[in-house]
Amino acid sequence: MKKHNFNAGPSILPQETITETAKAILDFNGSGLSLMEISHRSKDFQSVLDETTDLFKELLNIPSGYSVIFLGGGASLQFCMVPFNLLEKKAAYLNTGTWANKAEKEAKLFGEVVEVASSKDANYNYIPKDYKIPSDADYFHITTNNTIFGTEIHTDLESPVTLVADMSSDIFSRPVDVSKYGLIYGGAQKNLAPAGVTFVVVKDEILGKVTRKIPTMLDYRTHVENGSMFNTPPVVPIYAAMETLRWLKKNGGVEAAYKRNKEKAEMLYGEIDRNSIFKGTCQVEDRSLMNVCFVMKDEYKEYEADFLKFATDRGMVGIKGHRSVGGFRASIYNAMPIESVQALVNCMKDFEKQTAK
Ligand SMILES: *Cc1c(COP(=O)(O)O)cnc(C)c1O
Repeated sequence: MKKHNFNAGPSILPQETITETAKAILDFNGSGLSLMEISHRSKDFQSVLDETTDLFKELLNIPSGYSVIFLGGGASLQFCMVPFNLLEKKAAYLNTGTWANKAEKEAKLFGEVVEVASSKDANYNYIPKDYKIPSDADYFHITTNNTIFGTEIHTDLESPVTLVADMSSDIFSRPVDVSKYGLIYGGAQKNLAPAGVTFVVVKDEILGKVTRKIPTMLDYRTHVENGSMFNTPPVVPIYAAMETLRWLKKNGGVEAAYKRNKEKAEMLYGEIDRNSIFKGTCQVEDRSLMNVCFVMKDEYKEYEADFLKFATDRGMVGIKGHRSVGGFRASIYNAMPIESVQALVNCMKDFEKQTAK
């Protein structure tokens, strides 16, 4: 049976990424050696890193004055690297969910943190909009897509101070005006590559401003100056990222992906709103294009396990909701074909037919 992969992360990747990476692991560029057993400083790997960096810049339309670096440690290490490198006295954070919270917690180790707003009061089912960013903050940190709760900041915010964004789960899903941001980071395992590589897009001029000493490996400048080769980079995930970006470019780039993502999300949210037994969990205007959260209406609560089994039997994978929301979550990242979304919608329709009172 065909599997429809709605996992939240690690998650679906383009089939080409998987096939081409598997080939390179067996025989890299016809060298007779595996991608896993060659020097990261070899000419062949350098060209992989260069192409990945170039595609990043091209597809995100990154202006000059920015560097793209690839690191280890996941987005979670960025929660600490960001304040280590940028927080001199005070930072502002927008609390929109679990990941935003974790980022904020780390910043408190380095200085004063102002939480400008939080949607915790409503289990993070919306994006706060009325708040003031202190103009004396060193930076303002946001999480553009809240993977767990299914909300998303759909526009590039105006900020009077350096804007820092965790884009782990919506990078390359919509066009972004990078010039509005000082730093963008994310783990690769949602929309780009297998876990193991973290991307950072940083405006060079914001670095080197704090007075504290920064350990070499945690200093962004180390990795900028050494072109992500200060130490051995995660070569296999970087290779996979290159294949995903080649695939994205071939399929029309970020604009075209955005169009497909909107179509997929509209199809699924449309069914959630139409269907008499399901309902969405988030404020409509803040609904994520990547992670679609929904639950059973109160009068159908007892059918939750039944629907999960019904959908699983039809090849749906990874739709069980996160424990902090319950119900269901369908992650429909860039690589998710619309046919899979249609298959889930059909499941919901058929389950309604046999269940609706
Ligand atoms: C998954 C995720 C993280 C955590 O990423 P790691 O690479 O596992 O540290 C952080 N932020 C967001 C928005 C995420 O979706």
